[in-house]
Amino acid sequence: MSTAPPAPTPADLVIAGAALVATCDDERREIAGGWVAITDGVVVGVGGPGDEPDARRTVRADGCLVTPGLVNTHHHIYQNLTRAYRPATDKNLFGWLTTLYPIWAGLDEEAAYLSAWIGLAELALGGCTTSMDHLYVHPAGGGDLITAEISAATELGVRFHATRGSMSRSQKDGGLPPDSVVQDDDTILADSQRLVERHHQRGAQAMVQVALAPCSPFSVTPELMRRTAVLAEQLDVRLHTHLAEDRDEDTYCLDVYGCRPLEYFEDVGWGSDRSWVAHGVYPNQTEIEKMATWGTGVAHCPSSNQMIGAGLAPIAEYRAAGVPVGIGCDGSSSTDSANLWMETRNALLLGRLRGGPEAMQARDALELATRGGARCLGRDGEIGLLATGSVGDVAVWPLEGIRFAGAHSDPIEAWLRCGPLSPRHTIVAGRFVVEDGALVSADVDDRLAAHAVVARRLQGLDA
Ligand SMILES: [Zn+2]
Repeated sequence: MSTAPPAPTPADLVIAGAALVATCDDERREIAGGWVAITDGVVVGVGGPGDEPDARRTVRADGCLVTPGLVNTHHHIYQNLTRAYRPATDKNLFGWLTTLYPIWAGLDEEAAYLSAWIGLAELALGGCTTSMDHLYVHPAGGGDLITAEISAATELGVRFHATRGSMSRSQKDGGLPPDSVVQDDDTILADSQRLVERHHQRGAQAMVQVALAPCSPFSVTPELMRRTAVLAEQLDVRLHTHLAEDRDEDTYCLDVYGCRPLEYFEDVGWGSDRSWVAHGVYPNQTEIEKMATWGTGVAHCPSSNQMIGAGLAPIAEYRAAGVPVGIGCDGSSSTDSANLWMETRNALLLGRLRGGPEAMQARDALELATRGGARCLGRDGEIGLLATGSVGDVAVWPLEGIRFAGAHSDPIEAWLRCGPLSPRHTIVAGRFVVEDGALVSADVDDRLAAHAVVARRLQGLDA
């Protein structure tokens, strides 16, 4: 009878020899020469040089920073069909929206599928492994747009948090959108429930989740906000909306509801750790403390806030109060790009512009893009970190070449201060979505051609 210990089971994948592994784990360990091992889509070990486990496949990461895959907490992917749309480029938020609503009224399943495929591929090329999407335009006859998006995410192999967006308050009821893009409350709530029951996965390794997301104070009724919060509680899913994005919204809420946006938010039953909001540019200190007490998160959208001219969100105050803060790229036609590395860098720059050089460091920005995002999506400890038991979502960033010449003292500061930078590999659940800087999927050219046809049709360019 043999007394030898059983041979160790090789890991599926080991990423080894990194210049630094920034684990973002509970101890925020940074491991020079480190490795990450993944089996069955889950991290099974993280360690330092010399004790790398056996693996079916080992990928060297010499000269690279290895981070958790980045988490995107706010987006409207369908808007990549109307990027840099000239008639809207000089508008403020309300003007921009009213210019684009009639075009978005042409959305259908094909458009939702293609925009999601292209948009999620774009995000993967920027190191993002989990993205939410907020699809709030559901034109009559447009079909099942959310299911079309989920199909694209599943085909690409990225982690996806669809949110069932909604608009119910059209111009005839004092709202901003036209009748063609709003639905009644019962239709919205029934479809929300259907989508959760069909697609929402529970558990630490979920690839697809569904949250409920009425669009904003100026496009839905208070009644829909209240009923959505109740339904989210019943179904045990998360809640998302826009809040305090723009000064016009303060004015709108005071005129229509007689209170500030956050008071309205509380009044309709959304002050909870089930909720995270996009933007949050204009809360006062009392409101920030309320959000911290509730555990309501904020998706910080640096490029969008700059492009729309919305202002500087009080990120340092949020973090000091304990509000969960993640990073969002926001819709492709308000920022016209969707790159989490760039948004994280912009968060660093805006934080320092607002509060001086001590207000934010690269590690703070990395925290927003990983652990902060996970908290917003209700998945702290599952995504946004590299630790035994977390998901096998990894970005491998090459810190080399002309752009990194001279950067020898701190790989994390170099990662965000130098650049521009794209990951060499983006790995989701242990599978390569981006490998050696290119999408693994071979369908890019076909999807781009089809996307162009749909985008031009929506914009009326080929009529
Ligand atoms: Zn948005």
